[in-house]
Amino acid sequence: MMRKRSVTNKKTYHQNKICRFCMDKIKYIDYKDIKSLRPLITERGKIIPRRISGNCAKHQRQLTTAIKRARNIALIPFTVG
Ligand SMILES: [Zn+2]
Repeated sequence: MMRKRSVTNKKTYHQNKICRFCMDKIKYIDYKDIKSLRPLITERGKIIPRRISGNCAKHQRQLTTAIKRARNIALIPFTVG
């Protein structure tokens, strides 16, 4: 999806957060590990986007898969409301 961006504001507030999974040297995100997944889901059950969570692309993708799996076995609620 393309989005037009105004040229006036050139500042990008790119916070160089370190991916928490990289930090913990986690190679594969376990969908059963709710403790790790919980902070990356909103209270409504949505996945927190990468630019906010600071995860790297690799782990974010794994996270998405993990969360979907966790939802399927009802470890994490589907989006409420
Ligand atoms: Zn990472």
